[in-house]
Amino acid sequence: MESLIEILRNNKLKITPRRLAVLELFYQERKLLTPEQIWQRLNSKFNKLGMPTIYRILAQLSQIRILRQTTDEQQQLCYYYCSLRNKNPHHHFYCKNCQRVFCLEFCELDSIKKAVAGQIDAEVHHHELYIEGLCSECRKSTNNAKLKSKN
Ligand SMILES: [Zn+2]
Ligand SMILES: [Zn+2]
Ligand SMILES: [Zn+2]
Repeated sequence: MESLIEILRNNKLKITPRRLAVLELFYQERKLLTPEQIWQRLNSKFNKLGMPTIYRILAQLSQIRILRQTTDEQQQLCYYYCSLRNKNPHHHFYCKNCQRVFCLEFCELDSIKKAVAGQIDAEVHHHELYIEGLCSECRKSTNNAKLKSKN
């Protein structure tokens, strides 16, 4: 497994404290984060951390596919960590409760291609799949909460 520092180095991104701090934050939290949330979490650690710096770092980290972009329920732009960045195609699962994102090592491209060709005789070049629900931990804790409220 490549370390975060190796990922930056292997992609010819200089190891700067800010860049590493942003990447570490995503790695640790595994959650959807908006640029403002990143600023709120890191602002106290750095002198004069501006939003333009955060946007620039997010763009660089998205370019090497370690971060991915999406929009949250409020249609705000946000980012998440992708541990399978070189494995394409794959999909992501979002937990609505804890906002964590999980990489899923599967893709149903062949069946989609067949279905699209069968229905409208078209050729598929790209697809995105939005999978949302409750992660294993959140399922357990909501089940426990239900049990408790029954007692
Ligand atoms: Zn991923
Ligand atoms: Zn969850
Ligand atoms: Zn797929």
